Amino acid sequence: MNIKENLSFYNDQLSEGVKLIAVSKTKPVETVLEAYQAGQRVFGENKAQDMADKQAKLPTDVQWHFIGHLQTNKVKLIAPFVNLIHAVDSLKLLKEINKQALNNNRVIDCLLQFHIAEEDTKFGLNMQESSEILSSQEFNALSNVRITGVMGMATFTKNTQQVSREFKQLHQNFLQLKSTFFANEISFCEISMGMSDDYKTALNHGSTMIRIGTGIFGARNYT
Ligand SMILES: *Cc1c(COP(=O)(O)O)cnc(C)c1O
Repeated sequence: MNIKENLSFYNDQLSEGVKLIAVSKTKPVETVLEAYQAGQRVFGENKAQDMADKQAKLPTDVQWHFIGHLQTNKVKLIAPFVNLIHAVDSLKLLKEINKQALNNNRVIDCLLQFHIAEEDTKFGLNMQESSEILSSQEFNALSNVRITGVMGMATFTKNTQQVSREFKQLHQNFLQLKSTFFANEISFCEISMGMSDDYKTALNHGSTMIRIGTGIFGARNYT
């Protein structure tokens, strides 16, 4: 695995404004540092404690993106430094992020996660649920969270037509929320979709952030 070459491989395929999130979950600090030294600054983690441990050991200009399901009791571990939380799917979680952001005197950017896949094991909202959250008084009273877009994971399948349909759906959800709730907010601009196996399809459907782990760092070892 040549991390530097892998990063270039992806960066060369990105249009202006599209970001590469290097998913470093399960990888040691030394590996993250190697990517950092090759110029990568944005990293994705899905365990709050791991992210906090790595953040403490890496340069302060790294941008940390939380990409997995976040439990409310773990928000405080990452609230002092996290740059973007990709997978917010409840008002309860937003309220806790707001509380911890306030404690740290920050505004934390978040994406709403949509359930676009066929599998029912994946987290995420539908349009009705997201609209209920965004139009609620409780949400509108939160001054330390900012919703900057949407995120989703397609079904794990080789059927690219299905994956295409799902990413298209996420793009449509984004446009609908944009016109209904964020028409005047240029900061609502992100569509986080695409992983090692489906990033090309995601880019074709307007992804602004691809989240790549295996393609940069090689297979993960969970044992
Ligand atoms: C692990 C993970 C990725 C990266 O997956 P790869 O297939 O290794 O590129 C992207 N997004 C989320 C939410 C993940 O949990």
